[in-house]
Amino acid sequence: MIPKYIEHIGIAVSNLKESISYYEEILGLTCYAIEEVVDQKVKTAFFMLGQTKIELLESTDPDGPIARFIEKRGEGIHHIAFAVDDIEGRLKDLEEKGIQLIDKDPKKGAEGLSMAFLHPKSTHGVLTELCEAREKKVDKRIHRSD
Ligand code: ZN
Repeated sequence: MIPKYIEHIGIAVSNLKESISYYEEILGLTCYAIEEVVDQKVKTAFFMLGQTKIELLESTDPDGPIARFIEKRGEGIHHIAFAVDDIEGRLKDLEEKGIQLIDKDPKKGAEGLSMAFLHPKSTHGVLTELCEAREKKVDKRIHRSD
């Protein structure tokens, strides 16, 4: 599996609004999207830095994965996401190589990406996300011909 680039770095925060203020007012970045991802029990905020995004994650559920992460370790870097092609194929390859997958099949993440997590036990301690952008152009063409 060859990742194309770092798609984003996921950071667990306890208060999205306060964290956005830090990134905007202190670092001078601009939050371009806030989105709730029901599947992952999070509200996310995105900042762009070159080709890579920073994804802030606030839990929407006290028992959600981000809430549990913060409870154990406090706020901080939660995961790194690599952009890949053919995410289904990549997951199959990794599983065959003995890598433990958290998501055997890709899920729908923020920004319409397909995403899946690899278990940190298999990745030397780094919760790793693979994500693939879906072809938006194709979707539009299908909608137009409806
Ligand atoms: Zn992510």
